Amino acid sequence: MKQTVFSGIRSSGELHLGNYIGAIKSFLELQKDHNCIFMVVDYHGITTPFNPKEIKQSILNVALDYLAAGINPEKSILAIQSDVPKHLELSWIFSAITPVATLQRIPTFKEKIKQHPDYVNLGLLSYPVLMAADILIYKAAIVPVGEDQLPHIEMTNEIAKRFNGRFGKTFPNVKAKLSDGAKIMSLSDPAKKMSKSHGHKTYIALNDSPQIIKEKLKKAVTDIGTTGKMTPATKNLFLLLEILGKKEHYQEFLAEHRKGTIKYSKLKKVLAEDIADYFAPFRTRRKELSARPDYVKKVLSEGAEKARAIARETMKEVKEKVGLVL
Ligand code: ATP
Ligand code: MG
Repeated sequence: MKQTVFSGIRSSGELHLGNYIGAIKSFLELQKDHNCIFMVVDYHGITTPFNPKEIKQSILNVALDYLAAGINPEKSILAIQSDVPKHLELSWIFSAITPVATLQRIPTFKEKIKQHPDYVNLGLLSYPVLMAADILIYKAAIVPVGEDQLPHIEMTNEIAKRFNGRFGKTFPNVKAKLSDGAKIMSLSDPAKKMSKSHGHKTYIALNDSPQIIKEKLKKAVTDIGTTGKMTPATKNLFLLLEILGKKEHYQEFLAEHRKGTIKYSKLKKVLAEDIADYFAPFRTRRKELSARPDYVKKVLSEGAEKARAIARETMKEVKEKVGLVL
């Protein structure tokens, strides 16, 4: 029997190289031989500041990015989280067995409240509980994610264990699947991960034009001179070149770095061209798809229907086990 895979992306902006390398690249591998469910997690998207006039477009944009990157709706379920309200029902039951103190210790919660001190809401605190419900409602075995999500997967397993212990074995143990570039750093601050919500100058979007990619990389932080050792900023650019660039370019620049003859302006130029080439088919497909919004909506609505059918079964079992049935 094929294993089930679940993962989600917040509708908080355009997808960037971190999302692609850390998550989507694994999705494409896994969809070949697993039952995959990928979602635009819009309920998570509203836990940080958002504009109600823009959210619809953001949801559609993430769906377009998924499809243009190669998520195949014939093979995988692609849906919007809020179209499957049973996630919230399960999340409520989980929240009743989850200690508040453990949620307050989650690093992403601490980061987000630092980023938005005027926006410390309950949804942000219970984010990992909803994420546990997102995953466990499909009894997923594998969750491909970036490194920043590992504490959430740990939390998912804790919640599953607590539920199973109290109400009987219901949920499987979940495995996080990390890719080779599980933490791509910001272009402007190599101490922070690349994020949709940190502003468009700090990331390269999958849909950026070759010119924009060139301009953004030109301003990216690098070392001054060569000391032989790579700083995190340079390491990040080399990682991008290794994963997205032409093999010979990576070897050439690595050798130049070792010799101390590297010119970062040249590295950035070549890297920009390689990234632009890598995503050329993506840009074409995305343009085609954005001219067909009805097709995208149809994919999402069919995906939601399939997801609801699975979620309904799990909730039936959960309510029976918890004793919430007459
Ligand atoms: P936001 O700033 O709104 O939280 P984000 O860029 O962190 O946006 P998410 O929607 O939270 O994106 O995450 C989607 C997926 O991409 C997750 O699996 C996450 O771990 C992964 N991911 C996000 N940023 C990176 C990164 N810099 N490197 C590798 N993986 C990443
Ligand atoms: Mg995030």
